[in-house]
Amino acid sequence: MSNCIELERRYCAHNYEPLPVVLTSAEGVYAWDEHGARYLDMMSAYSAVSLGHAHPRLVNVLQEQAKRLAVVSRAFYTDRLGPLAQRVCELTGMDLALPMNTGAEAVETALKAARKWSYRVKGVPDNRAEVIVCHGNFHGRTIAIVGFSSEPQYRSGFGPFAPGFVLVPFGDAEALQRAVTPYTAAFLVEPIQGEGGIITPPEGYLTHCAEICRSHNVLLLCDEVQTGLGRTGKLLACQHEGVRPDGLILGKALGGGLLPLSMFLARREVMEVLEPGDHGSTFGGNPLACAVGLEALNVLVEESLPQRAAELGSYLLEKLRALDSPLLRAVRGKGLLTGIEVDTHRASTRDLCLALLRRGILTKDTHHTVLRFAPPLIITREQIDWAVERIASVLSR
Ligand code: PMP
Repeated sequence: MSNCIELERRYCAHNYEPLPVVLTSAEGVYAWDEHGARYLDMMSAYSAVSLGHAHPRLVNVLQEQAKRLAVVSRAFYTDRLGPLAQRVCELTGMDLALPMNTGAEAVETALKAARKWSYRVKGVPDNRAEVIVCHGNFHGRTIAIVGFSSEPQYRSGFGPFAPGFVLVPFGDAEALQRAVTPYTAAFLVEPIQGEGGIITPPEGYLTHCAEICRSHNVLLLCDEVQTGLGRTGKLLACQHEGVRPDGLILGKALGGGLLPLSMFLARREVMEVLEPGDHGSTFGGNPLACAVGLEALNVLVEESLPQRAAELGSYLLEKLRALDSPLLRAVRGKGLLTGIEVDTHRASTRDLCLALLRRGILTKDTHHTVLRFAPPLIITREQIDWAVERIASVLSR
């Protein structure tokens, strides 16, 4: 066994079960292991590496900014946060941005803002705010967030949890309607459930939810940590239905695949309930992350990556749908966020990931039932052809 694997196993907590490969470098859609073998990255660090590994423009900005100014905290203004906030607000149609680092932190931020908005603006009695969330959700790993997960393993052993969350089935707008009470502050939803198994809701779902939220003065909070920034074929997945949420959560790809950068964005009325001292983060909005984030957004727009994801995603989906295998139960996705649901009575998704690894493809299952295929958005047709040949051969075993 590789010494690096041994070291990780000996000295790291076992909260992950990595595939047995030791990656040592990566560029574009490829990564290389310690023996020099090359792999096509079909998972992009759970969509964080949408622009590909080591994008030269991003690496250049990272290096230059690191030499100039990296971390000073929000105790001071910098010349990097304002321009990033302006760009991300203009691109997403939101009024104000609050930078954090990880997706989970930005979700927590959204929940805090929504609760406070409900007390200060909507008039919900103190400490009674409710937030409606969906079965099968994944919003991160903090105690508040796992407290409203429907996945037993995410919760088991970690209680007690924060009250004030109500679960409804995903994809069922009527269920949302029934769950709304005078105390409802917000509805938090992923436009497509990523970790839940690449679950796409029925067409019109988000539009219908947005109408219900508007008519009951409930905030619509879209968690686009995974679906955002071009992944599904539009800049934001909620734009497929022309929906503009009251609050938007971005992460992963916002950091250009180089460092953690997340944001909660919102309408003015929502964000303005937060006052100095209410919320913060030492590293949130640091100039290094902001410089890279701004360049990542520029690359995304200039290289038309959302359109590229739409075209190549349709191509990939079509090829996956044409696969003929008894292991295959369903093929789902939008843009370059795709997944194959496997008949787990016949094969384990981990074994299939291992078989793909041996053929030069990196991916990871979600939920032990779905093989995820979410390559960097810069992938080419030829690379997709190469990958699908190997996926076909693994599924036909
Ligand atoms: N929201 C969604 C929709 C996600 O997919 C994830 C991560 N998979 C998160 C939040 C949490 O992000 P992080 O791991 O950066 O905390």
